[in-house]
Amino acid sequence: MADIVTPVVEALTAPDLAGVVDLVAHPDPHGAPGEAVIVAHATGRVRLTLDADGTERHEVLAGRDPVADTDPLAFLPYDLEQIDPSPANATNAYPEPARRLLGFFSDPDRSPDLAIVHTPGHYFPEYGGHRGEHGSLDVIQSRAPFILSGAGVPRRGVVDGYAHVVDVTPTLLRAAGVDERFHADAAGEPLDGRARTDLLEAGAGRYVIGILWDGGHCSDLLHLAAQGTLPNVARLIEHGTALRGGAVAEFPSVTLCNHTSALTGVGPGRHGVLGNVFYDRAQRRRILANDETTWHRSAEWFRPSVATVFEMLTRADPDATSACVDEAIDRGATASTMQLIRAAGGNDGGGALDAALPPAEDSPYLGNRAHLADSYYRFCSRVDDIGVLQMQQHWASAAVAPRLTWWSNIVTDAGHHAGGPRSAIARDSLMDADRRLGALFDHLDALGVTEDVTFLMTADHGFETADPRVRGDWKGRLDDVSARLGVGFRDEGPGLVYLDV
Ligand SMILES: [Zn+2]
Repeated sequence: MADIVTPVVEALTAPDLAGVVDLVAHPDPHGAPGEAVIVAHATGRVRLTLDADGTERHEVLAGRDPVADTDPLAFLPYDLEQIDPSPANATNAYPEPARRLLGFFSDPDRSPDLAIVHTPGHYFPEYGGHRGEHGSLDVIQSRAPFILSGAGVPRRGVVDGYAHVVDVTPTLLRAAGVDERFHADAAGEPLDGRARTDLLEAGAGRYVIGILWDGGHCSDLLHLAAQGTLPNVARLIEHGTALRGGAVAEFPSVTLCNHTSALTGVGPGRHGVLGNVFYDRAQRRRILANDETTWHRSAEWFRPSVATVFEMLTRADPDATSACVDEAIDRGATASTMQLIRAAGGNDGGGALDAALPPAEDSPYLGNRAHLADSYYRFCSRVDDIGVLQMQQHWASAAVAPRLTWWSNIVTDAGHHAGGPRSAIARDSLMDADRRLGALFDHLDALGVTEDVTFLMTADHGFETADPRVRGDWKGRLDDVSARLGVGFRDEGPGLVYLDV
């Protein structure tokens, strides 16, 4: 087949689109499958490969390397991030671009032909964009918090360093005392992630609780905890270790891709959840995976080799119990919110539970009622409130408490989308989530079991602030070049471009 990718990439990286298109990435059409990926920007192109030992190689093909800075600790200390809320390509950083992109492009049916990455400043409300956005390969949108605390964790406070979202599963398993030979997918292959053996004694806690704050901004979370604004996060840090560089999300830094990566220990090319929405060439259909009507069906999108953390736990210890609260990736959990939604049946999934959700106005954790004018913030507040109740029910007593509990919170995603990092609504969402965490601590303290718990707190991605002056899109350019080449395309996301389908 003629090379149809190169002219599309050239059209998308035209200088007049550089305000909205940061990067275009695609597999090297001249290399073997999985060998190399090419990343292009208006000012240059680079070919990325990965040595067997994980070393990333950059071969500049033209102009300048658009992902030259790969420092996972870029924009630290936090003051540096706040100078420019939406950095341009030349001053931005992109951690592990070869590993993450080669992984992303390794699904034969679901990986797109090319991925278009928005600039951090791009504001695109006409395509569902918000003041705060994520999804990019860049460091800030890819930086989730990573805090270990409690039983078996050294009390080092906030330290330099970083982990990966794919490290969450093996680290939870280590905390639960699961032998490393069970840290493997359903085919027995090793995970992409690694347990943080340096931060955790194996099997030190009787109980393990993983907490995810969706889109919880790593550096602002640590900043507010240090200030005393998030006292319960501060309590976690005081009794453990937080990594200043957080956990590097998989690409794209979108929700369902990274929830799946966190809870399976492998990247999107292996678990098959390429984004919140993607296309499957073999099934000839678009999969809308992260939606109120589909989020309880995550197991349907998994590739056959996927194993969840809950399945790995019971593979190692069939008697171990687990609970999974307000989280899509629940397969294998002894009890879960999504099981209740599936059992309720109906075609609207989570919508069926609407009547069961408490009114947002009555929330004891809501700091500012004005935010309920935002319908997403309102919905998330209701879901998170019932999340607290579920946690208290799963932990009715120490005797019935699960060995492994996973608890997702989503209001932090709503707050950061609405205003971007550091906005009043984003910070209020972190404070609401912190009060819910405090309710869990109160409950565990009353049971007298807090000292027996190992906690891991993380997120699925970070956030950056868009600039309302940076408008425009690439749709017209894609339409033009596809008409010129006589090639059809689908643009899912948008940004995942499938050619000739
Ligand atoms: Zn998210």
